[in-house]
Amino acid sequence: MSTTLIQNGTLVTDRHTFHADILIENGRIRDVAPSIPNTNADRVIDAAHMLVLPGGIDVHTHMDMPFGGTTSADDFETGTRAAAIGGTTTIVDFAIQAKATKMRDALDTWWKKAEGKVCIDYGLHMIVTDLGTSGLEDMDDMVREGVASFKLFMAYPNVLMVDDATIFKALGQTAKNGALICMHAENGSVIDVIVQKALAEGKTAPIYHALTRPTRAEAEAVHRAIALAEMAGAPVYIVHLSSEDALNQVREARDRGLPAFAETCPQYLLLSINDMDKPGFEPAKYVFTPPLREPHNLPKLWDGLRHDHLQVVSTDHCPFCFADQKILGKDDFTKIPNGGPGVENRLQLIHHHGVGTGRLSLNRFVELVSTTPARLFGMYPRKGALEVGSDADIVIWDPNAEHTISAATHHMRVDYSMFEGFHVRGNARQVLSRGEVIVDQGKFLGKAGRGQYLRRAARGGAWK
Ligand SMILES: [Zn+2]
Repeated sequence: MSTTLIQNGTLVTDRHTFHADILIENGRIRDVAPSIPNTNADRVIDAAHMLVLPGGIDVHTHMDMPFGGTTSADDFETGTRAAAIGGTTTIVDFAIQAKATKMRDALDTWWKKAEGKVCIDYGLHMIVTDLGTSGLEDMDDMVREGVASFKLFMAYPNVLMVDDATIFKALGQTAKNGALICMHAENGSVIDVIVQKALAEGKTAPIYHALTRPTRAEAEAVHRAIALAEMAGAPVYIVHLSSEDALNQVREARDRGLPAFAETCPQYLLLSINDMDKPGFEPAKYVFTPPLREPHNLPKLWDGLRHDHLQVVSTDHCPFCFADQKILGKDDFTKIPNGGPGVENRLQLIHHHGVGTGRLSLNRFVELVSTTPARLFGMYPRKGALEVGSDADIVIWDPNAEHTISAATHHMRVDYSMFEGFHVRGNARQVLSRGEVIVDQGKFLGKAGRGQYLRRAARGGAWK
């Protein structure tokens, strides 16, 4: 039996900020009280002048993911190590069903990718590409394995895109089994027409990735996704929402009382299409989907976070190295692997630009990066909480630590940062995962493979 005592800290949850000590026993929180005397704890952490937060939860990452003839540069070891250093103690990654195969095959494949490597606890969503004859029962089978959420694509025709009938059937199945459907909402068919026209006109530079994906194509798909969910009687979660146009659709639905939810990501909050105004092929660093938008969208997304029109900040971490992967699209922007790195910097960026600027309270910050993701995806209160019985996934956060983000010092296995030179105040000092100190002052102390697969519960927060 091992015990750790965290003393003198200021605890921050989604609801409250208060002084308390935390006693951890065998990986779980055993006691939370104003003052817990040290009888004989194996380890004492002095958190004076520090904030004590539930560990970050990033529900949108792509480690070791095949895309366009290459694979995302972080595997489950390098990616989750970087996540931990930045204060994230849980990820939910995506397994991808190959067409005409069982979802179980994909689950096995992704479990193998994580095995022996993953440094923090992880769950998996299942990307549905094919609902053939056994597809719907396959979904129930996945729910029994703790895959309590599915992702469907309204974009990427002939690769990942599914039609409205498939989306509607999948939503209908979740109305029975209590899983949550996550939608990549962009009108892929229309975008494809715009893209083909651009290529025919010789427009092959990276900037055309952004210019061929209008915000209306995102808004239309968000509207359609929500309408389909409403007809099916199921909640829906929009991933990586990037624009005011799309946000308006979510807000309108929520105002009508529909269980529609959405996440956005640091890149959409802090970068705009103007950041692609760089020489040569460098804009390829910002080629991901949806693309960066016009600057006027940014304050609208911050407002959305503040007023709960948006509920979650995730990263869509999907790194590809500039030198040898992004370059695949040197002569054709459609060949640039889509994705960017970010899993390490989410808490730093949202704390600095959200809490530090007064846009978000500390409690709202915790809600967005930890508690709501845990609730919506069936992990609460084991994760996302500082309650007796919760896993001791805890970040000792120094609100005054200064840090400059750079590819030269980050831990993600990728040769650039989207946030190069960004200066932040506030950083993780220590990170505990199930009671084990896995990060101390930026140094990873945990062991690869120590992370556990999380069996997530159906009928999570989206159903309440
Ligand atoms: Zn993604």
